[in-house]
Amino acid sequence: MQAGTTAGMLDGKEVAARVRDDLKRRVEGFSGKGCRAPGLAVILIGDNPASHLYVKNKVQACKKVGIESFLHQFPQAVAAEEVLASIERLNSDCSVDGILVQLPLPAHLPTERILDAVLPGKDVDGLHPVNMGLLACGKQGLRPCTPQGVIVLLEHYRVPFEGRHAVVIGRSNLVGKPVAFMLLEKNATVTICHSRSRELDAIARTADILVVAAGRPCMVRGSWIKPGAVVVDVGIHKRTIAEGPKAGESEVVGDVDFQEASRVASLITPVPGGVGPMTVAMLLSNTLTAYERHIAGK
Ligand code: NAD
Repeated sequence: MQAGTTAGMLDGKEVAARVRDDLKRRVEGFSGKGCRAPGLAVILIGDNPASHLYVKNKVQACKKVGIESFLHQFPQAVAAEEVLASIERLNSDCSVDGILVQLPLPAHLPTERILDAVLPGKDVDGLHPVNMGLLACGKQGLRPCTPQGVIVLLEHYRVPFEGRHAVVIGRSNLVGKPVAFMLLEKNATVTICHSRSRELDAIARTADILVVAAGRPCMVRGSWIKPGAVVVDVGIHKRTIAEGPKAGESEVVGDVDFQEASRVASLITPVPGGVGPMTVAMLLSNTLTAYERHIAGK
């Protein structure tokens, strides 16, 4: 990449819209044959405003492609047994193909126990240990939405994986680990970094593909990026602008300093409008996959 030029965008909004169009056509194909609509049950607990907003977006996205959604809301103080009983009912409900538990859960609830109660075939978030195990073995299963969204986005822009050095910053079960497995499956050479890694900037500078999911606003600077690298910023943070003409207004930033990075990278995701829309599109895609397996009796 030449000095003075800026990176091309990995436009998650546009790619997600294409994915949705394709899903809509597939759903219409089933309804044309007289099949019922795919169904997604969403469990929303408590009054976290961000969770309410995410769920609203997911429900709207379902509607756009013809997936029926069933919202199950519980108060903040709900007992674990009540949530588990509801999951049990949804597991055996034939009109429900996917079950999504919106995270984070209130502190008193056992998140792992609740997620593990979802039937692996209905685990459209791909977080159940069975689905994580299948991913680690390179076998078919429902795959976590955000990492799968990263891969579909890179594939759309024909980013080559084979033999390339992919560096993942972050090792969470939600993003870092599964995206590393998926990059490995694509024959990239993968390095996973985390909060205890040393000389992170030097490792990042060796990346042809840099995926950042550290949850630290603007942590990755332009100087951490190899010229021409492809940068995927998974992070998302809302913060108040401290100084300048927009002081006091709020802005959304990622884990990468976008201004700096876009002067060095060849392709980069914007925040917002990069990985976020892809995550929702992959949730719909997983719901349709679960539905197809369900009605085929698999
Ligand atoms: P997490 O807190 O569970 O994990 C963060 C990981 O980053 C950890 O493995 C930690 O070791 C590593 N880390 C933290 N500080 C670091 C540092 N200074 N240097 C190197 N590594 C460091 O977070 P998560 O759930 O994986 O999410 C990461 C980010 O992605 C968050 O900003 C989250 O909001 C965002 N996210 C976005 C989407 C989306 O759809 N766009 C989906 C999921 C998560």
